[in-house]
Amino acid sequence: LLEVRDLHKSYGALDVLKGIDLTVDPGEIVGFIGASGSGKSTLLRCMNHMEVPTKGIVMLEGEIVGVTHKGDRLVPRPARDLSQQRRKMAMVFQHFNLWPHKTTLENVMEGPVTVQKIPKAEARDRALAALKRVGLKEKADTYPSRLSGGQQQRVGIARALALQPQVILFDEPTSALDPELVNEVLNVIRSLGEDGITLVIVTHEMRFAREVCDKVIFLDEGRVADMGSPDHIFGTTENPRTRAFVQNYF
Ligand code: ATP
Ligand code: MG
Repeated sequence: LLEVRDLHKSYGALDVLKGIDLTVDPGEIVGFIGASGSGKSTLLRCMNHMEVPTKGIVMLEGEIVGVTHKGDRLVPRPARDLSQQRRKMAMVFQHFNLWPHKTTLENVMEGPVTVQKIPKAEARDRALAALKRVGLKEKADTYPSRLSGGQQQRVGIARALALQPQVILFDEPTSALDPELVNEVLNVIRSLGEDGITLVIVTHEMRFAREVCDKVIFLDEGRVADMGSPDHIFGTTENPRTRAFVQNYF
């Protein structure tokens, strides 16, 4: 479904990503772990071309994201093309960025209506279904300020779901939450995975990664240092960097 090939990203002299290769299969739940500054967020942003890679490509369903071949050169895709590709990869951020002056329902309808140009009635149905999916249908007419942090993040997830993406990219979806609110959000994410939705999750929740992910990728200084099943990463790996990193959490 998603493939990253020899991806590099530099900011000036700072090489953040140094040749990343990986694949995400349909229905797979892939977790990214790694120290602060290892490039996890940068990698997610390169996947949907919010950041333009310095080198290398991202393929989504067999198409190169953000650029296209012109003869033997790669040229930027037209904006409309790119936004169509981006729609297939919804992002959920650490800070939920809900519109304070819009209700829960309006927040979730926003993307389908303004970005996807879907008729309002249909967008409303989709948004309600997405809210139901995250257990917040009864909060449809509530404003974000009246919701808990966990509920706000579930609205953030509903907003992604309403776009009906091929894959949802999560960047530390629970790290801004009080500890007692983390599980309700993780449970929603887990249930999306059980429904077969493809998920890519940057997380510091090692237990969650161990229990829920099909594949875990350990990023170390801009490289894929280790990758495999949770049993491998959290158990049998012989990579000393992985072992040292993971040990901090258990
Ligand atoms: P964390 O766990 O703290 O979120 P991360 O693994 O997500 O870390 P990134 O946010 O990808 O790390 O950042 C990797 C490196 O790239 C850091 O050194 C950061 O300072 C740098 N960086 C990220 N974005 C930019 C930018 N827009 N301009 C310059 N440097 C950047
Ligand atoms: Mg980050």
